Amino acid sequence: MTRHLPTSPDAIRSIVFDLDGTLYVSPGLAQEIERAAEELVSVSRGVSAAEGRGLIRAARRRLAEILEEEPTLTRTCLELGIEVGELHRVFQSRVRPERHLTADPVLGALLDSLRSRCELYIYTNNNLPLTRKILALLGVEDQFRGLFTIEFSRLPKPDPEALRRVLENIGGPPESFLFVGDREQVDLKPANALGIPTILVAETADLLQVHKLLGIIP
Ligand SMILES: [Mg+2]
Repeated sequence: MTRHLPTSPDAIRSIVFDLDGTLYVSPGLAQEIERAAEELVSVSRGVSAAEGRGLIRAARRRLAEILEEEPTLTRTCLELGIEVGELHRVFQSRVRPERHLTADPVLGALLDSLRSRCELYIYTNNNLPLTRKILALLGVEDQFRGLFTIEFSRLPKPDPEALRRVLENIGGPPESFLFVGDREQVDLKPANALGIPTILVAETADLLQVHKLLGIIP
């Protein structure tokens, strides 16, 4: 677990969470999202589903070499000529989080205790309807002050300009933020570059690192 610790945790007022893989982990839902993208690529290219999958795999490999990091699915689809809006229309019509997610009372309690000290936000490459649905299924839809989804800037993470707009919208100096996510390069590195403290998580239990940092007993 990587932590870029702040010099003064007391200054933290806004916690910005990634959604997928950070507030929940669901291989089934991740696979459904991947399948929807594969189908879109295969339809738009007029090839079979298997060939669509192969195109995504090849584009991902190519980008990983150029970027020296695993690209996001959104970035990979852009590389294949798929527009962000098109991709999310397909996600909205094909992806069914209700097949995979149920209420998570532990997550609810962890977030609830953080709200005694900070405002909570979501910053995700996912779209607003799916984000709302996922948060409602997890039972945490009322915990967040703001949701920065792909509709906010249309610029998928990692993107310095999109990040700048998110920070500006929330307001406050770098030391008043804490970013929490499951992907170092996508969720945390751009924030770190601005001097914002971050915490890398791999499962819900890792969120306790946030409480530890802030000295909050959950
Ligand atoms: Mg994630």
